[in-house]
Amino acid sequence: MQTISENSTMESPNCILCGSGDKKNCFSKSSGKGEHFTLVKCRRCGLQYISPRPTEEGMIARYQSTYFTERTDRGYNNYFSESTMREITRVLKLNLRDLHFFDFESSLAQPRRYLDIGCAAGYSVLFMRERGWDAWGIDIAAECIRFGRTNLGLTLIEGDYLATEFSQPFHCITLWATIEHLHRPDMVLKKVHRDLAPQGRLFLSTCRAGGFMYLYGKQWRYYNFPEHLYFFSYRQLVRLLRKTGFTVRAHSFYGSGIGRPGTALRKIADIAAKRLLLGDMMIVAAGKS
Ligand SMILES: [Zn+2]
Repeated sequence: MQTISENSTMESPNCILCGSGDKKNCFSKSSGKGEHFTLVKCRRCGLQYISPRPTEEGMIARYQSTYFTERTDRGYNNYFSESTMREITRVLKLNLRDLHFFDFESSLAQPRRYLDIGCAAGYSVLFMRERGWDAWGIDIAAECIRFGRTNLGLTLIEGDYLATEFSQPFHCITLWATIEHLHRPDMVLKKVHRDLAPQGRLFLSTCRAGGFMYLYGKQWRYYNFPEHLYFFSYRQLVRLLRKTGFTVRAHSFYGSGIGRPGTALRKIADIAAKRLLLGDMMIVAAGKS
């Protein structure tokens, strides 16, 4: 990918899906800190992404403490609270069930090695460790890693996954709501392919450009600029996975964003979103092709 450097902190990437630099501006939106970022659409393949964007180095500071502890429309109210942990674990179990993870798990012999990329405080790592996995997590957010190590006793690595080598392959690797944050989802997926055992499985979730996204337009809940850099449709995600050596084994769409969380309206809208394939989140299980 050619990256045109505009200055030391910003860059204008080409499309990671088709390589084209031909893009049209969709709209600009504030980050909430007075900066404006523009959503562009690749004229060749239709992929939506942010350009120009902060470089990777420029983004790291954004994921330090306040992203996880201050209430904004993009971060978390308090990521380290019991209630957040319970909610994340509840959604995790639903996602794993919908992707037939538990059947996959029971087909594996011990020892089973697991890695969660973009693990934050490591709630998914904790869940898998409690199921008997040799469970690891990696994230660039230092405060989250400290919390997971100290309070939960987890094996977490603070650092860049692309720069980290592992001595043994993993049987399961997950990217929960992570690829939309990455500067190079394509390179990360290629490395996941290398780090997976031959029969290993990748599970991931990301926001879905489709379904309820069209209802909200610019106000869509996942248009958080510039933390979210990529917005894949299901077809585009499948194309990216194929390009990086994967075959999709299962998928599902869910989530509506309608009404407030916990209300009857939200529950009904979420059920309808799932049944009618209108969800603006998607989950995918993939194996090596
Ligand atoms: Zn493209």
